[in-house]
Amino acid sequence: ELLGALGVVIPSRRFPFAFTRLARALSEVARVAPHLPAPTPPPKPPSLPAPAPSLVLEPPEPLRTQANLPDYPRAYRESLRDPEGFWGAWAEGFVWTEKWREVFSQEGGWFAGGRTNIALNALDRHLPERRNQVALITLDGEGRLEKWTYGELQELSARLAGRLRALGVRTGDKVAVYLPTGLEAALTLLALARLGAVHVALPVGLGAVPLRERLLDLKPRLLVAADAYFRRGQPVPLRPVVEEATRGLDLPVLWHRRSSSEFLEEALEGPPLDPEPVPANHPLFALYTSGSTGKPKGVVHVHGGYMVGVSWHLRHFYDLKPGEVFHTTADLSWIVGHSFGLYAPLLLGGTVFLSEDRPDHPSPAAFYQRMRALGVDVLLTSPTFLRALRQSGEARPTRLRLVYSVGEHLAPEVLLWSRAHLAHTVDHWWQTELGAPALGTPLTLPLKPGYAGVPLPGVEARVVDGLGQVLPPGEKGHLVLLRPFPSMAQSFLDGRPLFQGGVYWTGDLAEMDEEGYFRLLGRSDEEIKLGEHRFGTAELESALLTHPQVAEAAAVGVPGEEGEEVVLFVVPRRELPEEVKPLLAEKLRLHLMAQLGPLARAKRVEFVPSLPRTKSGKILRRLLKAQLMGLDPGDVSSLEDEYGGKTS
Ligand code: ATP
Ligand code: MG
Repeated sequence: ELLGALGVVIPSRRFPFAFTRLARALSEVARVAPHLPAPTPPPKPPSLPAPAPSLVLEPPEPLRTQANLPDYPRAYRESLRDPEGFWGAWAEGFVWTEKWREVFSQEGGWFAGGRTNIALNALDRHLPERRNQVALITLDGEGRLEKWTYGELQELSARLAGRLRALGVRTGDKVAVYLPTGLEAALTLLALARLGAVHVALPVGLGAVPLRERLLDLKPRLLVAADAYFRRGQPVPLRPVVEEATRGLDLPVLWHRRSSSEFLEEALEGPPLDPEPVPANHPLFALYTSGSTGKPKGVVHVHGGYMVGVSWHLRHFYDLKPGEVFHTTADLSWIVGHSFGLYAPLLLGGTVFLSEDRPDHPSPAAFYQRMRALGVDVLLTSPTFLRALRQSGEARPTRLRLVYSVGEHLAPEVLLWSRAHLAHTVDHWWQTELGAPALGTPLTLPLKPGYAGVPLPGVEARVVDGLGQVLPPGEKGHLVLLRPFPSMAQSFLDGRPLFQGGVYWTGDLAEMDEEGYFRLLGRSDEEIKLGEHRFGTAELESALLTHPQVAEAAAVGVPGEEGEEVVLFVVPRRELPEEVKPLLAEKLRLHLMAQLGPLARAKRVEFVPSLPRTKSGKILRRLLKAQLMGLDPGDVSSLEDEYGGKTS
């Protein structure tokens, strides 16, 4: 079923056989170099001219010599050879009210037998040392900047937990959260975690119909909702949306009245509650995926493994040092916001900055100024935002030490721009399902622009064909993972496990080079077949982005007279006079073939003012495709509100 959903066709007769081969390849892994794959069959002759030798960048000093993960190959080897020892040692640093029986088991998951609470570890544990240290800096949509200490967050969330308990919320209950990024959202998530309740954040801006659908699907005990939020400095009312979505449902709503401080006052009325120790595999939250390729899927993360995983990554991959300020431009209601806008920074006793409005509101200059004034050291953002900064022109100095990009492929041009104007910039790959990074370039390894990086500790990644057979370096196929790691969800909301037959199909296309670096090529179900060759959308789009007149690009495959045809949607860097368009279109078609070979022949180029994106910043290619084909686009509930584009 899962494979079908991913568009992978496997004749059932051959299915078990394919996985025996996969398992055999797997058993060879222990013997090979840390990030190199198992020995695989001899490579087939490439069907395309080899790509130009790619650029390799050495991370500058002192990033390399002072990295929190000084010896990546060794850590990687250890994580596979002895996962119990590797993750167990990091887990020891947290408070467990009962110690786990085993670090991992197939049936029990991570840290089975252990009891803890992520809120206990994110707040209460730090109080003796950090009561007066700033934990959270918030900038609300009206420009109010506030700082909150560990002591304040602990007290406020403990009292809010008491208030929620009084409203009938119990351990294990699901509670929907429809709040903009900011203090109230952070407190609500922490209070629910404290109670052992399960938070399900739904991004504000989600319309009444999809909101109602999610609520019907979830059947939460309570909805915590804001009556408004701010976008581009303007208040956007939410009360009518919430009222319409909940009409006739037996669902109490706890309101955060955006224009008054009532929510906080209400929170302060509750008796402070201690964190409820829960089993390590007790659900902490469910979250829907971005919905880039279809209806969003609900994914469940748990207290123990998630806590251990996300904190490990913030320290060792994002390289956050004690005393530094971390910032993510992601909304708190997305996985990036949950993992690195809230839980991981607090678990490490760090300081995190969150902003309600767009990161470049009211201007890109304001973004640079904020980074400098707040002393942000490490930034986690998306390619969309980096592209927007690049597009806006003049960059200003910040104190950033590192920039990480996730969510979509980071084009080398944008990476190089960001590296020149912000700080050393690292692309990396993960998913809602994974909770934390899986592929990335550690600071001690050379960085290859265009590549998402190597498998991080605990991750065993392979590129396989549709039958699950491991492909040799240089061949593109489906990216699969062969073993779970702590931050990874075990199941979807409907109970379906992620791993089936020992394999997790990520739904992405990739290719691995001889040195074990992975390049992401697009989504499996958006692959475009041109003649004998299959192109990932990211391949075509990155090739287009190397043209100086292209700001953004989306490639879409549509059925044509002789098989599939590709249509390119291009946002030009400057507004184009009508008469120039045909000429530039032709130039871009030639440019694509020059980059990728004669098979990369585009049928048509459409110039558009913007691309439809999900609220988390990903191109919604299926909407473009539906528009081209005159079809119903399906569930577009995750479409960004600012998209006003038309395809004609
Ligand atoms: P849905 O699963 O509902 O279609 P989604 O996959 O967009 O939504 P997320 O979990 O937010 O939801 O996004 C994960 C996906 O984003 C990855 O599977 C991949 O397609 C893409 N992605 C993330 N990081 C990168 C990256 N560095 N390079 C290329 N693609 C990336
Ligand atoms: Mg996905």
